[in-house]
Amino acid sequence: MISKTCIKCNINKSLNDFCKAKVNKDGYAGTCKLCKKEYNVLNKDKISLSNKKYKLANPNSGKITTAEWRRNNPSKLVEYSDRWRNKNRNKYNAISASRKKRLRNATPKWVSKEELDKIRMLYTISGWITNNVGIEMHVDHIIPLQGKNVSGFHCLSNLQVIPAIDNLKKSNSFKAA
Ligand SMILES: [Zn+2]
Repeated sequence: MISKTCIKCNINKSLNDFCKAKVNKDGYAGTCKLCKKEYNVLNKDKISLSNKKYKLANPNSGKITTAEWRRNNPSKLVEYSDRWRNKNRNKYNAISASRKKRLRNATPKWVSKEELDKIRMLYTISGWITNNVGIEMHVDHIIPLQGKNVSGFHCLSNLQVIPAIDNLKKSNSFKAA
């Protein structure tokens, strides 16, 4: 078979004039490319509406995950977070102040200045990997600072640098437990 008749315009055309369609027995669409194009133009609104409906019903179709995007756009990520920080100075300061306070409260008295320097180094390393390798890292408290049964300390032995995605999994499992 090298030609077929279009079901719309009834013209016998070469197979090249039909789009490939696996669902059909002969492997080609029933309507020719020209008719299909015409239909698309005439039904533009209808098609975009049905695409919209599909997207609403399938929110994850064609959408890459946030983690994936972050992995692919490390420089953009830094740019966006910088922009957010500048725009939301007060909010950022408040968050970072309360975070600092929380860490300070969880730091035992026996933690030396030297150890604090090393802890600071962990945060630098974590940030370096995030920005230069493109894998978002977190400095994680192995035993959470405000755990359900036990509360961990903000000290070197309770800290680890792990990929953010693992940290997320961990906090979910902590919540589930
Ligand atoms: Zn046709």
